[in-house]
Amino acid sequence: MKSNKSIGCLVTECRFHAKSEPMCSLESIQVSKNKPTAATTESDTECASFEQE
Ligand code: SF4
Repeated sequence: MKSNKSIGCLVTECRFHAKSEPMCSLESIQVSKNKPTAATTESDTECASFEQE
């Protein structure tokens, strides 16, 4: 799978992960908040383009 060097990712369980390199294979991704209030830490954000393998 072709890796997008602009999107580093360690989530190998995702069907879009490049596998051979620590990167995403999509052209672009959507990053979202996982709570309705203001994000204040890294864990308040997530990749909304994730899909299970
Ligand atoms: S879609 Fe998101 S979680 Fe999946 S490989 Fe790409 S960046 Fe990682």
